[in-house]
Amino acid sequence: MKKPPLFTLPLFLAISIICHAQPKLLVGLVIDQMRYDYIEKYWDKYGEGGFKRLVNEGFNCKNTNYNYVPTFTGPGHASIFTGMTPSVHGIVGNDWIDLVLKRQVYCVGDRSVAGVGGTKGASGQMSPKNLFRKTIGDELKTKNKNSKVIGIALKDRGAILPAGQLGNAAYWFDVETGFWISSTKYMKDLPKWVNDFNFKEPAKTYLSQMWNTLYPINTYSESDPDNNPCEEPFKGKELPVFPYDLNYLMNTNGGAGLIRSTPFGNSLTKDFAIETIKNEQLGKGLATDMFCVSFSSTDYIGHQFGPQSIEVEDCYLRLDKDLEALLLFLDKWLGKDNVLLFLTSDHGVSETVPCLQKKHVDAGVLVEKLIADSLKQHLTKVFGDTISVLVNDFDVYFDQKRIEQKNLNFIEVKNAVVSYLKKMNGIADAVTSNEIQEDNFADGSNPSRDSLRVKVKAGYNAGRSGQVVFILKPGWLIGFYKGATHGSPYIYDTHVPLLWWGSSIKQGNSELPITITQIVPTLSEILKVSVPEGCVAKPISFDK
Ligand code: ZN
Ligand code: ZN
Repeated sequence: MKKPPLFTLPLFLAISIICHAQPKLLVGLVIDQMRYDYIEKYWDKYGEGGFKRLVNEGFNCKNTNYNYVPTFTGPGHASIFTGMTPSVHGIVGNDWIDLVLKRQVYCVGDRSVAGVGGTKGASGQMSPKNLFRKTIGDELKTKNKNSKVIGIALKDRGAILPAGQLGNAAYWFDVETGFWISSTKYMKDLPKWVNDFNFKEPAKTYLSQMWNTLYPINTYSESDPDNNPCEEPFKGKELPVFPYDLNYLMNTNGGAGLIRSTPFGNSLTKDFAIETIKNEQLGKGLATDMFCVSFSSTDYIGHQFGPQSIEVEDCYLRLDKDLEALLLFLDKWLGKDNVLLFLTSDHGVSETVPCLQKKHVDAGVLVEKLIADSLKQHLTKVFGDTISVLVNDFDVYFDQKRIEQKNLNFIEVKNAVVSYLKKMNGIADAVTSNEIQEDNFADGSNPSRDSLRVKVKAGYNAGRSGQVVFILKPGWLIGFYKGATHGSPYIYDTHVPLLWWGSSIKQGNSELPITITQIVPTLSEILKVSVPEGCVAKPISFDK
């Protein structure tokens, strides 16, 4: 190797130190159910200090997609923060069937811990124990134990999975009390500042008002008319229309938990985020800290009203203001140059089924229980013996022991289920666990089918996923006759924002295809920490 002339070395070192000054605080923002197109759809309505500021001052990875199915909240958060897909990190759904325990398991459920700060119920019995792999926060703490890692979200899984196994704390929302709570995984008692925050009952304060549109309703031209049959009204209100009397609706919609389905759930999250940064002195310690904030209300409102609703538009315009406030706070607290921030989403969302049908697009709704019942009937007819199946999301589970006790060939049973499902209205494809494990779906014989099956394989974890997995056709949903949902391998569910902002991030954008699993190796490179074991994705290049 040719040595560089000696006199350039100090200069080279000086430049490299300036360019790679470590951020004092890494902020990971997740907007639950945010499609990429919401950046452009509402662009003219956003203020200068929120989403627009991140785009105008930061780097916009315009073509970022999920590279697996199912596209749900638990897997999404785990994949963002581990840099792996569910096949490796193990969070294959929000819940799955545990064939050993013979029951449904929740992705962050943990019966060995107790709630801290809330009601005695199960809402506090949460931890990341089902996450098989380390997060970027775990690596940060492994490198320097002085690093603090904290996750917050109204949804427990949106707080816990980002904070990883070593997180100092995760806080989520208890719908019974309207308080921020945690579990004994992290602490024995809530810190005084959390109790003080809860004591003021901020959720109830937000809910004592009307939810009206932020701007005159006739300016919401990007959305469908307010009163339409694609939306699910609140209980206790006949039509899905503004204004919403939240104080009244609290009585018919489960008390303080109602705030999750209003934009004020995001405002409450922003308030608690600022309080957390201040009280935990994030970014003011000896090592880089990491703060993960997931905004959940976008998902609740999106499910209830669908992406074409004024309710969703209003939620984003208000979230834009909350983002602005958070960025202004970070300016004052640390200054932009000491912060590294990214913003993304855990999945997108489909159109509503009634809206698609009105446009004469093939669309429909399937119900897990009805799929299971018809499968059972079919199998009983074919094999002359009762064979029970369970359907959870897009996964079919069997009692393998009982099937083999009846001297039936399990592979034949699975194949019978696959050919039956493939003929079912609304189902695009079905595949057995044997095929998923043995085939790489890369021989090029059927590219469009195989591109979906590659995503199935990346989302498949033996022991947690079903023994048959199916994929719905585009526009077909499980369970939502009104409103919308997600989970599919299609672009409306996979294409999400990815914005970078802060120290060492130059302004720009890229159209190159990027997968969600590339966030972690990019952070590893900037923060000079190890990539979590199992992450094989490549860092993002910020050269346009
Ligand atoms: Zn979600
Ligand atoms: Zn959702």
